Amino acid sequence: MQNSPALWRQIQRSNFTNWNQLVDFLELSPEQGEQILKNPSFKLNLPLRLAQKITKESLDDPILKQFLPVLDEKLEATGFQIDPVQDQLFRKETKLLQKYKGRALLVCTSACAMHCRYCFRQNFEYDSKKTSFANELELIRADLSLKEIILSGGDPLSLENRTLSNLLDQLDSISHLRRVRFHTRFPIGIPERIDQEFLDILRVRRVQIWFVVHVNHPRELDEEVLLKLKNVQCLGIPVLNQCVLLKGVNDDKETQKLLCEKLVDHGILPYYMHQLDRVKGTAHFEVEREQGCEFIRYLTANLSGYAVPKYVQEVPGESSKTSLF
Ligand code: SF4
Repeated sequence: MQNSPALWRQIQRSNFTNWNQLVDFLELSPEQGEQILKNPSFKLNLPLRLAQKITKESLDDPILKQFLPVLDEKLEATGFQIDPVQDQLFRKETKLLQKYKGRALLVCTSACAMHCRYCFRQNFEYDSKKTSFANELELIRADLSLKEIILSGGDPLSLENRTLSNLLDQLDSISHLRRVRFHTRFPIGIPERIDQEFLDILRVRRVQIWFVVHVNHPRELDEEVLLKLKNVQCLGIPVLNQCVLLKGVNDDKETQKLLCEKLVDHGILPYYMHQLDRVKGTAHFEVEREQGCEFIRYLTANLSGYAVPKYVQEVPGESSKTSLF
């Protein structure tokens, strides 16, 4: 099979962005269709490949729940805000955020392979006109305390290989940087994105690359996704996972156990289980903290220590993620 940037762009174009087409594809009833939020400001965006994993004729599927805009998003809930993690306060430049010592985050792009309904950055004010990273790189170059840059977004794998390659060249040339970390969900929906050219770009780095994926449910991982992640691991790049604890998706101890086991079976380290960031319109996803702690107790009692993620929450202004367990 041909494997090229053109191919994954073509695949991305087959994403569901129209709710009518998704209703037909999933064979939802008119009553089920009425639960859908038809014109959300954060648009429907679901890769065909993930849609093919969803059980037909149901709204209760754990993959569907992560991507389908529903009327519940309109419910008012106390404490749920536009920017719960206060990204804006930590903006050092248009595309550079720094919250913690020694590392900073480059918001490389606004684009994602999919739109997760609970995304804490869904209201972020991206400057999509500004494509250069020159100002951000200048700040990084001038700050000798920075050891690590996190490539985030949006999703850094939405960028063309050429752009990523140039960016990594620049970061590699900053001698005080030691690590570059990718935060990506792209391979879960469009694994073809990890093509040979991308692997070759990663292979030649001075800095140590870390690769953090975002998988919430074991069904998101299949042979092809795991094979692509294995290709990354074969370059000596550690692959870690972060999940978000979500009601109706993974708020079940057996699902969490299956996810962690599937990850470690493939050499992927369960890194974080995040408590939901309280973004406006996402209250229906929130799981009680005590329940999250119960899951961690269960995982600890049943799995090897390295297979248990840290249960954390982002509290604006804290010097690191806050541990909840
Ligand atoms: S892939 Fe990540 S950044 Fe993109 S919508 Fe999902 S959670 Fe947000």
